[in-house]
Amino acid sequence: MKPKFKEFYPIILIDEQTIQIGDEPNNAFEINDPDGIVTKLIPLLNGELNTEQIFDLINEPSLNFSDFKNIIETLDEIGLITDCSFESSEELNEWQHIRYNNNLKFFNIFSNTRQNSVFYQKKLIDTKVLVLGMGGLGSNLLMQLSGLGVGNIKFLDCDEVELKNLNRQVLYSEKYIGHRKTKVGFDRLSDFNTSINYEVVDKRIDSPEDLENVITEDIDFVFCAADNPPMVINSWVNEICNKNNVPFLSGGVGLTCGSFYSIIPSVTPCLECYYSFIKNQYSQVLEAYENSNIDYNAAILPNISMLASMITTEFLRIHLQIAEPISLGKKAIINFLTSEITFENPWVKNDLCRICSKEQSIVSK
Ligand SMILES: [Zn+2]
Repeated sequence: MKPKFKEFYPIILIDEQTIQIGDEPNNAFEINDPDGIVTKLIPLLNGELNTEQIFDLINEPSLNFSDFKNIIETLDEIGLITDCSFESSEELNEWQHIRYNNNLKFFNIFSNTRQNSVFYQKKLIDTKVLVLGMGGLGSNLLMQLSGLGVGNIKFLDCDEVELKNLNRQVLYSEKYIGHRKTKVGFDRLSDFNTSINYEVVDKRIDSPEDLENVITEDIDFVFCAADNPPMVINSWVNEICNKNNVPFLSGGVGLTCGSFYSIIPSVTPCLECYYSFIKNQYSQVLEAYENSNIDYNAAILPNISMLASMITTEFLRIHLQIAEPISLGKKAIINFLTSEITFENPWVKNDLCRICSKEQSIVSK
């Protein structure tokens, strides 16, 4: 092993016996170093020397090799070192290294002696996602996923660009008013990231069957950013994603808040479980939508891009497992007036759920 100290952490001398590595409140480590061994060790963790060479250079009579290895293991466990002799089967070409340079720096936070930052970027490049809807949320998600370098992005919409969209849908421009969103989006995104395989579906979704042809076997993750028909579209996405075993994130904006939730088939209760739990409330809200022409959409760009950012970050937590997801089987709600996030109670699984209950599916077969 050729251990390398992650160079983005500042080292702060707290007192003669203690050092602090890192200066962020949620990402700093205080290390008791009475003999000054760790302080001496860090500059030697340069990725060029192997463990035995470093031990010899430290030359500390009170330290045996076994204790020294324990120090290295501890630094690895808390995520402070990588291994430069580690040969990953995952590789990026030079262009990808430059384009995703800052991504790689970010992913380096989660790397260790067994996994380097290329692993995370390569996983994104090999991923295929589907974004349903290219309105405020969908168009912002598409930009974010393209910036991250998700390698295969399929998206669906059935509308044209309108002047009133442009307060928040920055994927489009005034000169494209009246053009198909799928075509304009495809051209713009293909210019923005030439390495991504984009696939468009210009289609209106009127039934779960329509979705079945879109959420195909090769899709790894679905983003539901469509709001038509209200609420019902989410039930259809839930049905097909659970049937095809595809995780999904769904989000939407109201007047003063936005919300999102994520569902992983066989891991979380599904949306139908949630709806059966709030049955009366659900039918009342659905009825209110069906019997009125309320235009619920008051989305402005700062709010919608904040929601899109939260959803994309949650996707990274779920798909790359870089941190614990925050919205599994429960709604996360962002208050746009205070920027606070709150959570509804986690959903309870309905053992008789027609979508996700195994018992139920055995009966129906
Ligand atoms: Zn269910």
